Amino acid sequence: MTVTVSGVAYTDPVQDALARDLDGTLWALCEGAATGKPRYAAELHPERQRVAMEGLLCACCRHPADRNEHGMLWVLPVPDDAVDLRWEGLHSAIPPMCEPCSVSVPLLCPRLRDGHVQLRVREAEPIGVRGTLHPRPGSQDAPDYDAFVRYDSPDMPFVVARQAVRELRRTTVVATAP
Ligand SMILES: [Zn+2]
Repeated sequence: MTVTVSGVAYTDPVQDALARDLDGTLWALCEGAATGKPRYAAELHPERQRVAMEGLLCACCRHPADRNEHGMLWVLPVPDDAVDLRWEGLHSAIPPMCEPCSVSVPLLCPRLRDGHVQLRVREAEPIGVRGTLHPRPGSQDAPDYDAFVRYDSPDMPFVVARQAVRELRRTTVVATAP
């Protein structure tokens, strides 16, 4: 990994090219294949997360997410801090869900079992990424391992992305649990 004034890059140019998407965003390379059942861990595998988020596929089974006249289905954990109960303008790194998974997954996933909300979302614009933000060359700052960087930010060339983030708008709360 090298950081120059033009941004962060993998040292091996082939690896670097493979790790970039069409917009030039550099993605974290992971050991291990993005196959098998998700472990319902805190974060999805970057490849799985990106594919699901870009294609609006179910976070769990990769089938197309459910859509009805009220929008697309998202099942999200209720954060510990107080939230705007309209769930409007929320930044989500969690992809949407299909109908069957929206029933089964909250029973399996510890983060959702503790409380979750089912939303219908009419607009989910891609707005940025979460990942590791590297300091500019010469800076004494430490890398920020959990930075949110907007696509239009000057920080974008300095981030190694792990998760694509969408902003959820025109939301309707379908159900909350518990
Ligand atoms: Zn599913």
